Amino acid sequence: MNPLDPGEFRRQGHTVVDFLAKYYENIEKYPVLSQAILDDVHQHIFPGLTHWQSPNFFAYYQTNTSTAAILGEMLCAGFNVAGFNWVSSPAATELESLVMDWLGKMLDLPRPFLPFGNGGGVIEGNTSEAIICTLTAARDRVLRKLGHNSIAKLVVYGSDQTNCSFQKAALVVGIDPRNFRALKTTRSTLFGLSPDSLEKAIRLDINAGLIPLYLCATVGTTSCAAVDPLEPLCKVASKFSMWIHVDAAYAGASCICPEYRKFINGVEFADSFSFNAHKWLLTPLDCCCLWVKDPNALHVIMAWKVVQEHANSLLSIPASEQHSA
Ligand code: PLP
Repeated sequence: MNPLDPGEFRRQGHTVVDFLAKYYENIEKYPVLSQAILDDVHQHIFPGLTHWQSPNFFAYYQTNTSTAAILGEMLCAGFNVAGFNWVSSPAATELESLVMDWLGKMLDLPRPFLPFGNGGGVIEGNTSEAIICTLTAARDRVLRKLGHNSIAKLVVYGSDQTNCSFQKAALVVGIDPRNFRALKTTRSTLFGLSPDSLEKAIRLDINAGLIPLYLCATVGTTSCAAVDPLEPLCKVASKFSMWIHVDAAYAGASCICPEYRKFINGVEFADSFSFNAHKWLLTPLDCCCLWVKDPNALHVIMAWKVVQEHANSLLSIPASEQHSA
């Protein structure tokens, strides 16, 4: 058996391309919802699919792929590169940086988010990962100054329209669930987060001895495409030295069009910005584009320190007791 046989790869590759080409030729003929229960003929994967690319699909949001992107995915799978750092495959990192720069420029992102302004972009799997990474960076930036015990005092803010990935990320990075603020929005602000209610909530928390850490502002909320007013929100959050993340997962790609760019006005005052190319940018799942002003903040200095402290404490424990520790 040769798992990388070139002849077999060519033969199977043509079969897969023919299969996918036929799938797209007929996509509008398939019922959008999975036929798993009704159709016994196709017993395996196909019946279990919900056809997100179908022109008859109107649920959730757009997730538009393209033939160019499918071929790109095939090249990725074919090369099977593990690009976990630059030297492990320089072309992977270089291509990622280059594409993120193109995209950043297409979005007219402010200079500090791009490499020539000391910022930079990176591809994450999805927005949940982008929020986890930036929230971790924000947490560690504060805990480096205040000590790890202050973690219980850190508070994070979004609105009642913010995607649930924010709440999950807060749990993952160790924010006390009682310190998660989903501030109420109303129709009067078109369900955008009000800077006044943000400031009130922050001041209440400070008076209670808590520490405001992170604001997740959204451009294009999942349920009703509400846009949080970035500039005034950033002005409030900056007064308290908070990390500001702009989640434009759903609508961000549209801001490439000059007539929609205004919806991310104010992003220049944020620390990080992300959007999902797998929603409106002809790219298959998973592809979330994240830019930060300070790439160093994403380095895991704190985690390393915690590991060191843990190692030191293990060294002071007798070897016979180390296993349970
Ligand atoms: N934020 C917004 C505004 C979204 O619309 C979504 C997904 O629909 C997410 C976050 C979560 O994105 P992901 O599934 O990439 O983690």
